[in-house]
Amino acid sequence: MYADIIVDISHENLDKTYQYAVPAEWEKKAVVGSLVKIPFGKGERYLKGYIVSLSEYPKIPLEKIKCVLEVVENGLAIESQLIKLAFWIKDNYGATMNDALKTVIPVKRKVKQKENKRIILAQKKETAVAYLAIYQKKHHTAKVRLLEALLADETLDFEMVTGKLNISRETIKTLEKDKLITVKSSLVYRNPVRYESKDQKEIILNESQQKIADCMRKDYLEGIRKTYYIHGITGSGKTEIYMDIISSVVEQGKQVIMLIPEISLTYQTVMRFYHRFGGRVSFLHSRLSGGERYDQYVRAKNGEVDIMIGPRSALFTPFEQLGLIILDEEHETSYKSDSPPKYHAREVAIERARMTGSSVILGSATPSIESYKKALEGEYQLFHLTERANDAVLPKVWVADLREELKNKNKSIFSRKLSELITDRLAKKEQIMLFINRRGYAGFVSCRSCGYVMKCPHCDVSLTSHNNGKLICHYCGYEVEMVKKCPGCGSNYIAAFGTGTQKVEELVKKAFPEARVLRMDTDTTSKKEGHEKILAAFSNQEGDILVGTQMIVKGHDFPNVTLVGILAADLSLYSSDYKAAERTFQLLTQASGRAGRGKKQGEVVIQTYNPEHYSVITASTENYEEFYRKEMLFRSMMSYPPVEHMVAIMVSAKEETYCFDGARSLAEQSKLYISEEQGKIIGPVKASVSKVKDIYRWIVYIKCKDYEVLKKQKDQLEEYMQKQDLFRNCSVQFDFDPVHS
Ligand code: ADP
Ligand code: ZN
Ligand code: ZN
Repeated sequence: MYADIIVDISHENLDKTYQYAVPAEWEKKAVVGSLVKIPFGKGERYLKGYIVSLSEYPKIPLEKIKCVLEVVENGLAIESQLIKLAFWIKDNYGATMNDALKTVIPVKRKVKQKENKRIILAQKKETAVAYLAIYQKKHHTAKVRLLEALLADETLDFEMVTGKLNISRETIKTLEKDKLITVKSSLVYRNPVRYESKDQKEIILNESQQKIADCMRKDYLEGIRKTYYIHGITGSGKTEIYMDIISSVVEQGKQVIMLIPEISLTYQTVMRFYHRFGGRVSFLHSRLSGGERYDQYVRAKNGEVDIMIGPRSALFTPFEQLGLIILDEEHETSYKSDSPPKYHAREVAIERARMTGSSVILGSATPSIESYKKALEGEYQLFHLTERANDAVLPKVWVADLREELKNKNKSIFSRKLSELITDRLAKKEQIMLFINRRGYAGFVSCRSCGYVMKCPHCDVSLTSHNNGKLICHYCGYEVEMVKKCPGCGSNYIAAFGTGTQKVEELVKKAFPEARVLRMDTDTTSKKEGHEKILAAFSNQEGDILVGTQMIVKGHDFPNVTLVGILAADLSLYSSDYKAAERTFQLLTQASGRAGRGKKQGEVVIQTYNPEHYSVITASTENYEEFYRKEMLFRSMMSYPPVEHMVAIMVSAKEETYCFDGARSLAEQSKLYISEEQGKIIGPVKASVSKVKDIYRWIVYIKCKDYEVLKKQKDQLEEYMQKQDLFRNCSVQFDFDPVHS
């Protein structure tokens, strides 16, 4: 057997592997992730390295291959663990091992840090004196020196201790372990929490929250490890349960990873955790600089934090003592990677938990269909929270039929009900959120005379009009001036359609001139902390109406918001992917959940052209169970996930013929591996966005009940592609149970 070994496990050097032979005596122990001792270079140099792949064949002449000296028994090393996880990801989602490794190993930034480490006494003086006596008796002179110095001077400079006092780092570590001293790094790390603290009230869990927390705690203390699902309506207090169970796990000396979609990782959320756990909690998000981000990983690895909160990538936090992984808002599509390896954080979390003996908690008000199915089948333990936590009442929901509005000659973007309620709230000095579904409201430009649509010349998407008079491609950034005449027919009837956030903001100002309007979308939040500024302004009542996209529906608590308007609910229904109804239900429910978070009851107006669609009806009554039943009927009928599994194989190439030929040969080849009873092969078909940045894209879909069959077929296709010249001109990506359309 031959092993590829990495000796420098840092992001930059992951592709530098060296092949060694594994002697027969070590073959049983040598697996991907194993720590090994190897001779390296000329002379008698030995290095440690990690196995990242194994094969039966040597890649270099046999006489040049050296042997692994030893496979080191080291089951717990975090590097081994992450490499094993990378291998699992590669195996399950189809990617190169290198891509998989790059996913799990953080990018190192070479940034100089100012070290300002100090040692402080962590115990009462009396305790320290008692220990001092013991050490003196045992002649542990170094410990005696340190304790004496600390008793005289409660905090000491780390450099001074290792230098002038001549105390070794091991001694310091031992005393730290015994909890006699603490090593503090003040401002060594760039701290992502830059805000002053405010007072926050104590919260006592209510009965239903307590029951769930107790149940999970009992399991945890008894060593039972499971995946739990908390299905709790918006505002039912899931986050409070997470914090409660996190405390218990941390008390056991274990560490916790909590995943939150980036968009929900707001100032409010950060502060809630910061108040509860102080410096033991750390946050990762995309607005951190590379250095800040890397610091958070280092702190985690050194055991200086117990809790890491962040989006998908936080899952790979190098905690040595992992005990619990939480995925909040489990249904979010951002948990699925959209570049290879196209892994799903939920599944990888469950695998990492299995490897480390940790528990997993999933939570959402609107569970993904696939997870809820597993919960109902008992694979996850399911809990429900059906009431709002802080006595807030559920909002009253109105559905406004936009077809009726048209019949009544109402051409404004506000239905009569919504107008009436906005006027009412403005008079009462209560706040309003207006939600726009980004998907349909893109503001594309087309000709009313001939139907010509302005498209990006490099991508198969329409251009979006912006206020600065430019048309912009959101896929590649291509820009062009707005045209005056239709390039198709030369008429003047070319104009922007649909209503972007900017347009809605204008229309609101026109219809309600007395209102102060704030807008939140990618344009207004692209600056660092742009998010927080707008939210803080709205929270401080500096605005009456907040207009925004998806962004405004996530995780914010505004007690004075008593009206939520969803301007066009069903635009996401027209999207072509099989999750369209699910996504619509989630958006509507989450958006409604923003109303009436405080003492006053809220109202929600859902404007739609499809008032009879089940996703609209069930969202307006917050009836998830009913939605689930209807949606599962549709999925069974169409053999879509989770009823069957599906893999999308996307072939892309510069020339469309290569692309098509590649896709067709993969479809043909698949027929050899998968019989008609086993599964269905669809395509090749053009991708819904069939060209991006001048690269064409075709897709083959394969549906099959058995995930293992699909996985095996992927391996076979990969082998096939290696032998075919055609695939030198194409790139191929596998996407299992796709969630991005
Ligand atoms: P979720 O995560 O389910 O949306 P949260 O945990 O954010 O719910 O709780 C919603 C609101 O209710 C928050 O403002 C929170 O402080 C409050 N809350 C939660 N649990 C309680 C409780 N037991 N008593 C009082 N207020 C609570
Ligand atoms: Zn483009
Ligand atoms: Zn035209």
